[in-house]
Amino acid sequence: MSNRDWVGRSLAAVWHPCTQIQRHERFPLVPLARGEGAWLFDYDGRRYLDAVSSWWVNLFGHCQPKIVAAVNEQLGRLEHAMLAGFAHAPAVELAERLSARCEGRLGHAFFASDGASATEIALKMAFHYWRNRGHEGKHRYVSLAGSYHGETLGALSVTDVALFRDQYAPLLRPGMQVPVPDPRYALPGETAEAQTARCLRTLEELFARDHAEIAALIVEPLVQGAGGMAMYSPAYLSGARSLCDRFDVLLIADEIAVGFGRTGSFYACQQAGIWPDLMLLSKGITGGFLPLSVVLATDDIFRAFYDTDVARGFLHSHSYSGNPLACRAALATLDLFAERDVLADNARIGAHIDERARALRARADVRHFRRCGMIWAFEVDSAGPDFAQRLFAAALEQSLLLRPMANTVYWMPPYVLSEADADHMVDATCRALDRVASP
Ligand SMILES: *Cc1c(COP(=O)(O)O)cnc(C)c1O
Repeated sequence: MSNRDWVGRSLAAVWHPCTQIQRHERFPLVPLARGEGAWLFDYDGRRYLDAVSSWWVNLFGHCQPKIVAAVNEQLGRLEHAMLAGFAHAPAVELAERLSARCEGRLGHAFFASDGASATEIALKMAFHYWRNRGHEGKHRYVSLAGSYHGETLGALSVTDVALFRDQYAPLLRPGMQVPVPDPRYALPGETAEAQTARCLRTLEELFARDHAEIAALIVEPLVQGAGGMAMYSPAYLSGARSLCDRFDVLLIADEIAVGFGRTGSFYACQQAGIWPDLMLLSKGITGGFLPLSVVLATDDIFRAFYDTDVARGFLHSHSYSGNPLACRAALATLDLFAERDVLADNARIGAHIDERARALRARADVRHFRRCGMIWAFEVDSAGPDFAQRLFAAALEQSLLLRPMANTVYWMPPYVLSEADADHMVDATCRALDRVASP
């Protein structure tokens, strides 16, 4: 089979996500035959460096051999069993190890299969927590401008990305949004500290007015991914934590994209020295092998549901909750963090990438070049129509997988880049930008 064979069949039979399919009349679709490390290979023998970890999930690249072995071993032992009324080692061990990573502060793991479901669970749990504690009126949620928490209806209600939201707006519960201290939107002459303080004041005013109705504040700690890789200071998180405590609002940290070392610490919240009441994990959790998400909850929340009354329990379930194969993939991913100092290695390759990217950064059309851990992003000026798709296509020509969002270009590479891979990522991005700038 060649690329050509698969393109037609795929476009006819598969409804591709987040895509206006008609655009594939003009822009390529790439059938993938296999993956290895940071690279993906098509059917015509071309390869592409996966600079976005395939939508941020393949933390250690593709077909990482130790995860392959762990899943294979689990396959021959127990592929799946329902979790209600049963237990199995992979789910128990994973819950324990994730909790140990947050000093035991979030010791109760509720399993689902994807990120949006984790958001739904956290929203329901927060509401039900307050209800069980006699605060029926707390049923509203606060999220940050530019937030992304998934695309199911509940998650979309706390998401602020017009492209995903606008068409479905009549179906959503109106949420409350507060500004985020994104330096790109600082007032003229405003320092980072002043901007953070200003955003926290807005949050404080909202809480002071409406806290009797607010169940939770949900945030993407440090980096807002799908909203355009906005990066903000940890000081905002610690300030938000204090305000949540003061006004009896739960703090939900959506670490679906930023957990597992992506921002430079294992969990992003650690950089602010705080823990949330509920933490959401998914994406990189299985190293990109299998769908899995987890909501980690505090003792306080868990205890509010612990009762003789069934209806006071958390009434939510998914067929594949705690799937043993997915949990084993996650345990193998955690083993990789235990084996070598991944964060230190990432810091080294990160510094190398920064150095290599100097010329890119200095380009006249590149603005707001920024980095948080293993995430880099920048905007391209006067990008023109269909920029994201044109750059995507131009990068493929350069053996690179990029997935720009509007005029924001970002790298979120797997933690297995060699220096040569890193150089390729930076240099191919420059060449692709040149092509798109002067066709
Ligand atoms: C991707 C993402 C989600 C949704 O996860 P899905 O598995 O795609 O449903 C939620 N929150 C954040 C921050 C994400 O990046």
